[in-house]
Amino acid sequence: MPSPISSHSLLRAAGTIAWRPLLLLVLLGSTAASAFADHSLPPRHRVLLINSYHAGYPWSDGITTALGAELARAENTLELSVEYLDAIRHSPEKLAPEMVALLQEKYRLRQPDVLIVADDPALQFILPRREKLFPGVPLVFCGINNYSDTLLAGQKQITGVVENLDMAGTIELILRLHPQAGKIAFITGSNITAQGFLQNFRQTSRPYRDRVAFIELTDLSLDELTAALRQLPPDTVILHTPILHDRDGVPLSPRRNIELITEHTGLPFYSLWEHAIGDKGIGGIVTSAAGQGEVAAFQTMQILRGVQPEQIPIRHDLPNRPIFNYPALQHYRIREVSLPPGSEVRNRPAVVYRDYPGTTFLAGLGFVLLFGLVFALLSNIMKRRQAMMLLRTRKNQLQQIVESLPVGVWLADRDGRLIMGNSAGRKIWGEEKSLGIEEYGIFKGWWADSGRLIAAEEWGMARALRRGETSLDELIDIESFDGERKTITHSAMPLRDIDGAIIGGMVVAQDVTERLRKEDTLRALANEWQNTFNAVRDAIVILDRDFRILHSNQAFVQLVAREPQLIIGRHCWELVHHSATPLHSCPYARMLESRKGETSEFCEGDNWWETRVDPIVDDDGRLCGAIHIISDITARKRAEIDRQALISQLEERNTELEQFTYSVSHDLKTPLVTISGFVGQLREDLTKNNRDCVAIDLDFIESSAIQMGKLLDNLLHLARSGRAIGDPQPVDLARSAREAVDLASGILTPETVRFNFPAELPPVPGDRDRLREVFQNLIENAAKFCQHRQPPLIEIGGEVAGSHVRCWVRDNGIGIPQPYLERIFGLFERLDNSSPGTGIGLSLARRIVEKHGGRIWAESVGVDQGSTFYFILPV
Ligand code: ADP
Repeated sequence: MPSPISSHSLLRAAGTIAWRPLLLLVLLGSTAASAFADHSLPPRHRVLLINSYHAGYPWSDGITTALGAELARAENTLELSVEYLDAIRHSPEKLAPEMVALLQEKYRLRQPDVLIVADDPALQFILPRREKLFPGVPLVFCGINNYSDTLLAGQKQITGVVENLDMAGTIELILRLHPQAGKIAFITGSNITAQGFLQNFRQTSRPYRDRVAFIELTDLSLDELTAALRQLPPDTVILHTPILHDRDGVPLSPRRNIELITEHTGLPFYSLWEHAIGDKGIGGIVTSAAGQGEVAAFQTMQILRGVQPEQIPIRHDLPNRPIFNYPALQHYRIREVSLPPGSEVRNRPAVVYRDYPGTTFLAGLGFVLLFGLVFALLSNIMKRRQAMMLLRTRKNQLQQIVESLPVGVWLADRDGRLIMGNSAGRKIWGEEKSLGIEEYGIFKGWWADSGRLIAAEEWGMARALRRGETSLDELIDIESFDGERKTITHSAMPLRDIDGAIIGGMVVAQDVTERLRKEDTLRALANEWQNTFNAVRDAIVILDRDFRILHSNQAFVQLVAREPQLIIGRHCWELVHHSATPLHSCPYARMLESRKGETSEFCEGDNWWETRVDPIVDDDGRLCGAIHIISDITARKRAEIDRQALISQLEERNTELEQFTYSVSHDLKTPLVTISGFVGQLREDLTKNNRDCVAIDLDFIESSAIQMGKLLDNLLHLARSGRAIGDPQPVDLARSAREAVDLASGILTPETVRFNFPAELPPVPGDRDRLREVFQNLIENAAKFCQHRQPPLIEIGGEVAGSHVRCWVRDNGIGIPQPYLERIFGLFERLDNSSPGTGIGLSLARRIVEKHGGRIWAESVGVDQGSTFYFILPV
């Protein structure tokens, strides 16, 4: 079993740093220790542990450490004493008298409250001597391999934990991890415990004998073991139990056990104890010394707390755990995935961080901090160097940027002295001067708005440096050092460090002389354009893409009678027509469709307007607005209407003239035919010298000539009356009627005529002579056609009828049949050719009345019922 266990592993087993003094004590090889107790307090209980082997033997150390730790954890004043039988190097039976004497001497007066024995030799030693050495002291055992109920026959106050080996599990494991293995060699020693292992192995391996051959290396001398190991076939896997000493009694340490296997075979080997894996073994389903010690400690504490040992069951069920050695797994190419679930793999190469996470973390943290510090220092140095280089580069870049700017730039120090400038700046002033603020008076400049000379301390840079003032785009007239007058915009601002202290200033200036000149020109052009725009009598608006007004001229402002600022942005139809949408007649919609100028006319009140919309397109032909022109065309429109009336009148006259020509030619022909006929008759009567007939012929010729003369006179009169009437003047129609009667007095008697005018008949505007002529014609006709009546009667009257004056001439004469009431107003129309007349009178009367804006018509009930001629004239 002894396998050298490194102090590192032992430290790990201790679990906590607090146990290190204890372990040091154990490692020093003390045969008896009374450590584990806090000596500052009197012990409540005493416990004695008798180990079978010696201090430094890994198995014994494992039990002792775990047991001690658990007891101390449960009761910190507990006193634990440890004794070793040293059974590997000395036979306990041989040294029994001395050992008994020693224990008696040591513990006679300080009897333990509980006695613990670890491993088989100690139990076998103590059982027969228990009553003598520790009468009445409860006994707890652990690490017992060869346990049987008979072992404890007759013993009282005893309990403990049995050490079970998972031999079957380990054989299964070997077969699974080494499917090519042909043999399993089982190695064990010569003592009773080893023979117990052999019996166990034989029994356990029986079910596997058809799968693999088993070789037993047991009860051999060292030489025999060495030879047997050398002869093991290469497909053998070794299952090893520690040989405490060979058949000849030569003790073999755990390290020597491993060395024998590794020196004489290259074969993989498995163990059943945790500590026997060593640094070469593969591992196995192993039992643990710590587990034994922990359970024994637990049972001990139960007894110390008053539980009877008989009531504490003997534990047979301590589980064995799969534990493996990483280097060996690597060496034999065993993959970790094929290990049983929950396996622990030890001795990984980089395990420090896992085994000592706290220390590793602290070390790592320290390293990181140290590295960080070094890195920060290096980085700081690098940064400073980079910053210096960057600064130089930035300065160069700044100089280049400043130089390339189209405006004059000057950077000055705290005193206002130039530290950087550019050529645009030199061009403005003619040269560059580095002067302190007090000397700024050398720069000649005047405020553009007031013309006042700028004092040295008034310059923007001076104000920026002294008062921290920022000035923007101040307009200044200057005289440069080469004598040129210019206008510049001048801005200045202070430059500050990160604490806000002024460390310098910057001035930006731009020569705007040319720009201002162009702006003046542009302004003049714009004014000229606006004046021209306003001079147009037509209302004009320029519309944007949405047909909202952008510009309007004066005529439009007057047209809509709005303030100019209330026009911009509105729609034309809102302002002109007061409607939410364009009028139906608006050319706007048509222009959108046709993309060319469209025109419409519309009438509002007494006025006529022509509206025109012309599209404005951009370079790509897209519609981007329109020009809208509204022209007052009332005068033109009225002229057109007058012209149209004139044309109608002319057409009417033409028709009348045609009719007239026809009638005239017809009516003139009648007397001419008569004359022509009687001239022939006259010639014949002269030839026959028929004197009586000659006179008759001449009478007919004469009357026809007279008739023709009358006809021509009346025609002439009609032609004259067709001319425009004279300037209108108020006419008293009653008076006109009386004058007409006076003129016709030759054919009228005073009794025949009766006047029926009111006292106050309003005058009508007109031509007095012409209106009298109307009465004259009507009165002469009335007299002519009622002369056969007894007595003949004529009524001449007038009255007001609304906005007109209505006059009439009524007679009791022959009357007029209904169908002719209108026809008689036609030229040369006569109902009875035998009656005197030419058929022109009524035509003339109608023409005169209509010329005065009135109307004339005739009424008659029928033949011999008299007639009435009415006419109305506007007042
Ligand atoms: P005239 O020279 O023939 O009278 P007018 O034009 O004055 O020509 O009249 C046309 C015709 O109208 C007359 O010839 C006559 O037949 C008819 N007429 C006019 N006045 C009267 C009247 N008062 N009574 C009856 N017939 C009339």
